[in-house]
Amino acid sequence: MIPFPWRDRLQSEAIHRRTLGRDRAIHPAVGLDVCSNDYLGLRRDPRLAEAAAAAARTYGAGAGAARLLRGSCPLHDELEAALAQWKGTAACLLFNTGYQANATLIPALVGADDAVFSDALNHASLVDGCRMARAAGAHVGIYHHLDLQGLALQLARWRAGAPATALALVATDAVFSMDGDAADLPALLDLCELHEALLLIDEAHATGLLGADGAGLAQLQDVHGRVPLVMGTLGKAIGAFGAFVCCDTLLRDHLLNTSRGFIFSTALPPPVLGSALEGIRIARTEPWRRERALALADRLRDALGQPGQPSAIVPVPVGADAEAVRLAEALQSLGYDVRAVRPPTVPEGSARLRITTGAHLEDAHVETLIQALLKTLGG
Ligand SMILES: *Cc1c(COP(=O)(O)O)cnc(C)c1O
Repeated sequence: MIPFPWRDRLQSEAIHRRTLGRDRAIHPAVGLDVCSNDYLGLRRDPRLAEAAAAAARTYGAGAGAARLLRGSCPLHDELEAALAQWKGTAACLLFNTGYQANATLIPALVGADDAVFSDALNHASLVDGCRMARAAGAHVGIYHHLDLQGLALQLARWRAGAPATALALVATDAVFSMDGDAADLPALLDLCELHEALLLIDEAHATGLLGADGAGLAQLQDVHGRVPLVMGTLGKAIGAFGAFVCCDTLLRDHLLNTSRGFIFSTALPPPVLGSALEGIRIARTEPWRRERALALADRLRDALGQPGQPSAIVPVPVGADAEAVRLAEALQSLGYDVRAVRPPTVPEGSARLRITTGAHLEDAHVETLIQALLKTLGG
């Protein structure tokens, strides 16, 4: 039984959410996928399913324990080696989810007196990592989206008042998950070098999609292997599940010893590792997948009069929450699984449709989607 005061509180909060039009519910997939992060169309590829089954047959369905206990199997090492090689770093550490990685690696690095600087539009998992660091006594500086001058000012101001031993971390999405725009990594690296700050980038939406070998935004922007902490996920373009941080051995050893999301969580299960390895192999050997996803996003942005961006995410700005929901429903009734994204996932007053493209889409799908969008937005 829920005690009465709890029932009372939960019910009034539910009513409040509904009045704001901000009620969330899980809706099953409907129609054509133009909203997931399955950019390469690998999620349902039979080769990934087969690799998962093979891994389960060899190593079992579950890991049974955390990595530091008995949960590690050869596929964990193999996947870490494959990711480090792909990302051009000396080492890699797997995490169970991107959320867990970001939320627990920041407080593993940044403590009392230290500082973490975070782009205002960073993913919620980075935001929560910053909150945990703040709870431990760190300074948290939020800089305006992509505003590197503002970041430089904040870094200098903080340094002037900080103890000499205090250290700074800068954290940013590589490709921003709700806008599809990208950070300027070479400029960020220069700035971080100047201020002796460590740079953490989140390549959740860039891994498998960008760069000559699909390694990510760092590769596209010619700083491959130069970013000290490259975090990414395996549940989006790679079609499997899980997350990783590519870095050097010193950082890996530190995170392995101090990141609570790594230490206190059961290791990724073998089937997930098998499918991730296969997903990475396909992402690298079938470049047509990323080329198609990116070309279709470019076509969509063109039709909507938006500037080019290196991503498969195309936001359609709406503004009001209820209007975004109405437009999403109208497009769903036409056969496109378009979803509305509302605050707090995006800033107040910036509800939008978040459309994504993937290798599973044909040119004709996108052309008819454009017609449907123009009609729905116009009417
Ligand atoms: C999806 C996402 C995450 C979280 O990754 P999960 O593995 O889904 O927990 C982290 N950062 C960004 C930018 C994301 O888009």
